[in-house]
Amino acid sequence: MKIALIAHDRKKDSLVEFAIAYKEILSEHELFATGTTGQRIQDEVGLEITRFRSGPLGGDQQIGSMIANNDMDMVIFFRDPLTAQPHEPDVTALVRLCDVYHIPLATNMGTAEILLKGLQEGFVDWRLIQERRK
Ligand code: PGA
Repeated sequence: MKIALIAHDRKKDSLVEFAIAYKEILSEHELFATGTTGQRIQDEVGLEITRFRSGPLGGDQQIGSMIANNDMDMVIFFRDPLTAQPHEPDVTALVRLCDVYHIPLATNMGTAEILLKGLQEGFVDWRLIQERRK
């Protein structure tokens, strides 16, 4: 599974703590991240991760492009709901693409935990359900 990890600045500490707690599960998957988030996870958690540009410089859109190409399976995006983001349109577009392509998206730690535990238990294959409907 390909998993994207993104955190706004005031949520980065939380995402690092989360990645430490779930390092074992995360290490079994192919990880991608926006620039600064990915750097912190690499340095502080020790997980191998493909880094894109920083979010405000296009990183969210790079991850969105993977989703549009059917090349991303899950997004964990710790958004900061209390701070205006200069790249808010990109953030909205990324969340929208997750809905367009039925990609599981966690925007907070509670949901992220359930998604990773779901992964560990054996995944509901929404892609298969989609295929059956065609
Ligand atoms: P960053 O980008 O990981 O480069 O900080 C995240 C974002 O703000 O979208």
